[in-house]
Amino acid sequence: MDLIVNSLYSNKEVFLRELISNASDALDKLRFLSVTEPELMKDAIDFDIRIQVDKDNGIINITDTGIGMTKQELVDCLGTIAQSGTAKFLKALKDSKDAGGDNNLIGQFGVGFYSAFLVADRVVVSTKSPRSDKQYVWEGEANASSYTISEETDPEKQIPRGTRLTLHLKRDDKGFAHPERIEKLVKNYSQFVSFPIYTWQEKGFTKEVEVDEDPAEAKKDDQDENTEKKKKKTKTVVEKYWDWELINETQPIWLRNPKEVTKEDYNEFYKKTFNEYMEPLASSHFTTEGEVEFRSILYVPAYAPSGKDDIVNPKTKNIRLYVKRVFISDDFDGELFPRYLSFVKGVVDSNDLPLNVSREILQESRIVRIMRKRLVRKAFDMILGISMSDNKEDYEKFWDNFGKHLKLGCIEDRENHKRIAPLLRFFSSQSDEEFISLDEYVENMKPDQKDIYYIAADSVNSAKNTPFLEKLAEKDLEVLFLVDPIDEVAIQNIKSYKEKNFVDISKEDLDLGDKNEEREKEMKQEFSGTIDWIKKRLGDKVASVQISNRLSSSPCVLVSGKFGWSANMERLMKSQTM
Ligand code: ADP
Ligand code: MG
Repeated sequence: MDLIVNSLYSNKEVFLRELISNASDALDKLRFLSVTEPELMKDAIDFDIRIQVDKDNGIINITDTGIGMTKQELVDCLGTIAQSGTAKFLKALKDSKDAGGDNNLIGQFGVGFYSAFLVADRVVVSTKSPRSDKQYVWEGEANASSYTISEETDPEKQIPRGTRLTLHLKRDDKGFAHPERIEKLVKNYSQFVSFPIYTWQEKGFTKEVEVDEDPAEAKKDDQDENTEKKKKKTKTVVEKYWDWELINETQPIWLRNPKEVTKEDYNEFYKKTFNEYMEPLASSHFTTEGEVEFRSILYVPAYAPSGKDDIVNPKTKNIRLYVKRVFISDDFDGELFPRYLSFVKGVVDSNDLPLNVSREILQESRIVRIMRKRLVRKAFDMILGISMSDNKEDYEKFWDNFGKHLKLGCIEDRENHKRIAPLLRFFSSQSDEEFISLDEYVENMKPDQKDIYYIAADSVNSAKNTPFLEKLAEKDLEVLFLVDPIDEVAIQNIKSYKEKNFVDISKEDLDLGDKNEEREKEMKQEFSGTIDWIKKRLGDKVASVQISNRLSSSPCVLVSGKFGWSANMERLMKSQTM
């Protein structure tokens, strides 16, 4: 608890965001579960979140009408930090401290229920699950290491369903118990919560009331020339009363007209929804109609999550699926995107899927197949957009983070080769430090050049120094350097680009269109003795020894057989079996 309080001290106002997000999760959960268990909603109660403050006593009440908690759930969910978002936060905090870093953790993590203790020294949670006929109270204090759970017996405190949190604020934090302060925090942190959030506010309206004439006034009026008119006197008074005030916009951003949503709105939504602290590289908001109707906002993040290889583990929770605005799950990203595009984040809201949709339904659904196709297409449009933007750095950033994913796509998604290939980038023999695209390569091809040349190596340096390059350099032919282990397999899967085949310059039979058969015949004759001698010396170590015209300054070179593995592949295979 100490760690939370101290590491977040400067930003303790996040407590409200956390508690509202729990309330919103609880409402989502109820709405979702009631699809298959309608008895959970037997009481007709609105889905909302209400916040009421008591200025004088420094108390904040946050009440939701969500799924609530049973006694056991209170123990499991609030009893131990290990269960909650707080635990994840603490672990990350520790890891980052161990690594000597202090990257912006607060922005990245939800700190969970325990963030209530940032501002409160006593927290009371009174909750009623529709699965239980009793209401329970959890009570914990900042300085105590234990909590209590008891049945709520006070008739005044009964709630029909959901959870009420009561925060007894610390002396220095009582300032949070102001409706205006709460409203500001909600606008700032929770503007994309899709349930109505109300605050209990003092309101006033003005009205004209007739008043008896004040004798002093009357005297004054007597001196006035125009006494007639002043006979009946009215006065404007402000009538005060308290009422609930809706303080958030509940229409989800993806339902709004894209023309009316600013880039800032999209970025804010992204950051709030995915707990990101960096702006995305690109976003795309679209609606598809016709055969299948859905709305979506997709994002390309600015960086790949560090520390975990999410190509191998595509369980990213990056796509939030809604059906008719009901949040269904963020666990279906594998069904909506191929794993090599699992870095794309976003929301998808469909009107055509059943609310009780399951993974099995998704996998069999024709609707989902169509959705998936469209989503993938939109994702590629978005990436292409980044690559064509004037800001070159953006695509460099993208390629650094997600280039590997696209290369994996070359291997796993034949159908989209046409979309992936223009996005690929490689170093080349003529590109110096910069990556080039295949389009740039093709533009730079010699008029009579038929193929796209490449060499796979373990580094740009070793590619530059290979004897295979000599002849091509002499002819000023550009060669792609495939230096990432996955490059070669990716290229072999694509096979060609704009009808030009990819050709490995380290393979036997490289034809640069400069064969001189006459001369070759002469050379073969002249050196047949040498060839025989080398063959004898090397024996089984090589398949054959040949005269060739592919070198210009080196005396000889080892090449791979036409159908064999390249030297690079062999190196890779070796490193994997070790
Ligand atoms: P997280 O939200 O990441 O699970 P939290 O610490 O915020 O972690 O919350 C812990 C758990 O407590 C939640 O997962 C949920 O089961 C339960 N919980 C918290 N607030 C509520 C609420 N308002 N209604 C129902 N359950 C809640
Ligand atoms: Mg939470």
